[in-house]
Amino acid sequence: TPSLPPPHSPAPLHTPRAPRRWCSVGRVFSVNRWVGAQMGSVDAGAAMEKIRAAGLLRTRGLIGGKWVDAYDGKTIEVQNPATGEVLANVACMGNRETADAITSANTTFYTWSKLTASERSKALRKWHDLLMSHKEELALLMTLEQGKPMKEALGEVNYGASFIEFFAEEAKRVYGDIIPPTLADRRLLVLKQPIGVVGAITPWNFPLAMITRKVGPALACGCTVVVKPSEFTPLTALAAADLALQAGIPAGALNVVMGNAPEIGDELMQSTQVRKITFTGSTAVGKKLMAGSANTVKKVSLELGGNAPCIVFDDADIDVAVKGSLAAKFRNSGQTCVCANRILVQEGIYEKFASAFVKAVQSLQVGNGLEESTSQGPLINEAAVQKVEKFVGDATSKGANIMLGGKRHSLGMSFYEPTVVGNVSNDMLLFSEEVFGPVAPLIPFKTEEEAIHLANDTNAGLAAYMFTKNIARSWRVSEALEYGLVGVNEGLISTEVIERQIKSLNLLRYEPTM
Ligand code: ADP
Repeated sequence: TPSLPPPHSPAPLHTPRAPRRWCSVGRVFSVNRWVGAQMGSVDAGAAMEKIRAAGLLRTRGLIGGKWVDAYDGKTIEVQNPATGEVLANVACMGNRETADAITSANTTFYTWSKLTASERSKALRKWHDLLMSHKEELALLMTLEQGKPMKEALGEVNYGASFIEFFAEEAKRVYGDIIPPTLADRRLLVLKQPIGVVGAITPWNFPLAMITRKVGPALACGCTVVVKPSEFTPLTALAAADLALQAGIPAGALNVVMGNAPEIGDELMQSTQVRKITFTGSTAVGKKLMAGSANTVKKVSLELGGNAPCIVFDDADIDVAVKGSLAAKFRNSGQTCVCANRILVQEGIYEKFASAFVKAVQSLQVGNGLEESTSQGPLINEAAVQKVEKFVGDATSKGANIMLGGKRHSLGMSFYEPTVVGNVSNDMLLFSEEVFGPVAPLIPFKTEEEAIHLANDTNAGLAAYMFTKNIARSWRVSEALEYGLVGVNEGLISTEVIERQIKSLNLLRYEPTM
């Protein structure tokens, strides 16, 4: 791997390149964690070469169809969390670039929104096809900048592209309504119109799919977009935007700025031209954006932190429950907002489930996502590992027992051992907050009522899972769970056809005419 420093080199400690905090985000690792670079078959250099050769290594922002540097020339490092290697320096933008991106999106709105749904659909369909034909390069980029295993990254390209395909088709079916009139000589119609410029702020855990599922419906119904990807994973976003241009999505319909997140966020918030904010990320930032949108009365769609319960009843099929819980918990090393955060297990099956689950977790292969055998990549950064350590420490100090793992992985960097913690209770951080890492807390319970009570004992009602063979119980409990998505005997529940319910609403202006 020619692009990696030899194993004895000191870790490339990040040196902030710019005085502003948001231009110096990065992953800082201590020297003794550099062992990640020693791993065998990784060829990050060849991967980067492949991406570069496809013309998909973009490092500038996209404003009005032009690739532009930050106006003050500042850049930000993008690092590989598995090795600490700097993959690229990308433009570190702020309010001025964002203002121009908004202007460009606003100007383009007046032409893009006037096309027929079918015309927009054709461009989106082409974008979908280009995403799919560059599946490998996009997946490599995601594995390099985010750390997820290639198999998951390839899956994310399918998943991410599916939103573009689906909404390209759906846009032709944005029907209005005809309402029985209240006066005999009147007719009441509802026309749905695109709302205008959309600001889309996305996280690092799904570098492609979080963008396509916001941008797909927005573009499809005639809105234009300014995307701000996470500073940890801008390369995938930029590559996807490049393919959008190639697909014929007009200059200015899709703009990408990244860098100083609060500055970019504030500019989007303050602009009267931005009519909607769509955000996936932490609850703390979501609250800020919601408050910030009040002044200009924007529509807001937020997808924030979760605290997903995964309930295993005595009457569950144990193999199905183990397989489903494993998938729900350990996908992307536990770094998704729908990851099972609390595995509630009924007393009668607790021992049996716990030992089968521990065995299954033991079989997970930790490593660099570029290696074929890897099923668990690193966490996104050092702060993420420290958070996991804090939660596990809190649980053990309050009486929980480590059944497997429980510490940093010997690979170093931000690798953490897949972990199972037994006898977790509701006074522990592992119960009340999102761990966002590869730690599965097992929480025993006695009755169905108790399970429902424990599951609902949070205000983060995003996703829930349950395992039971009893059909009546599956309906009863699903409906009692105060969660947006409920998986029954299934650990992977995200699909474009379900999530359209969440994302496509609020992009349209309801215009009653009389
Ligand atoms: P996470 O903990 O998953 O990184 P964040 O909420 O910090 O979640 O990040 C999600 C997205 O929000 C990222 O693109 C990040 O840069 C952006 N972000 C963070 N702070 C702000 C802010 N003050 N205004 C706008 N966007 C922000």
